[in-house]
Amino acid sequence: MSKRTTIILLGLLIAALAGALVLSQQLGTPTAKAPQPEPVATPEPEPTWPEVSTIGSSVEGREISVHQFGAGDKHLLFVGGIHGGYEWNSSLLAWQFIDYLTVNPDVVPDDITISIIPTLNPDGLALVTGTGGRFDIRDVPDPSTRVAAARMNTNGVDLNRNFDCKWEPESTWRGNIVSAGTAPFSEPEAAALRDYVSDTNPSAAVFWHSQANNVYASECEDGVLPATLTLMENYATAGDYGAVPSFDAYPITGDAEGWLASIGIPAVTVELESFQDIEWERNLHGTMAVIDSYSNIAK
Ligand SMILES: [Zn+2]
Repeated sequence: MSKRTTIILLGLLIAALAGALVLSQQLGTPTAKAPQPEPVATPEPEPTWPEVSTIGSSVEGREISVHQFGAGDKHLLFVGGIHGGYEWNSSLLAWQFIDYLTVNPDVVPDDITISIIPTLNPDGLALVTGTGGRFDIRDVPDPSTRVAAARMNTNGVDLNRNFDCKWEPESTWRGNIVSAGTAPFSEPEAAALRDYVSDTNPSAAVFWHSQANNVYASECEDGVLPATLTLMENYATAGDYGAVPSFDAYPITGDAEGWLASIGIPAVTVELESFQDIEWERNLHGTMAVIDSYSNIAK
């Protein structure tokens, strides 16, 4: 083969290869590439919430549970059922909130921790529902009737008079004299909440009660904390409840919210409108407004 023929053949070969390359690109045929390893997807960690623990137990030995969601620095505490079976709907609301956050953990911002104590007075709740733990409306024999004795713990003490704010051995509930225990925190249920609060130092606390259709601020000796008024307004506005800066319907001593005020923690009392319903949408809006107000993460 002559040198000239070799050059022509080489030229034809190059032209043919170039043509094939152009054609393959036009046809969208993938050009050969070194195989790339498939990117390994990092699996989303399965939500481990709620973390459930026990903060103490009742006079009759029933566990008082707390259900925690999130791991942020700001800790918001929600408490139902301090008045046991007399206000069972406040516990049922707390359980609904626990269910909601279990299914929707993303609504808890990264800088927030939410703790829910569904029933601070499980012995009183059990007088109506048969259990101090999880229950539903079918466990309430007659939702239209209220059982006054189920408000107290097994020692006959109104737990929301047993805290260390202006404590006296007897206090009032509407027109009634009620026992407030033998000393502040004489009752194991109140002591359990005291210890939990001192361990976790919440940024704010909301107590669910029934029924007055209002959100009440709290105070002890030094007036209402400004942050408490904000907390009250946010919950009341979003939940369409009345807002009452100062409870003066009748004198109260030893209430949990007042004790929290005395140690600088904003706390409000949410009194549901009824004693039979959980008023879910209103309280979901109220709680979410509070959560948003404590989060610095923009929505
Ligand atoms: Zn109550």
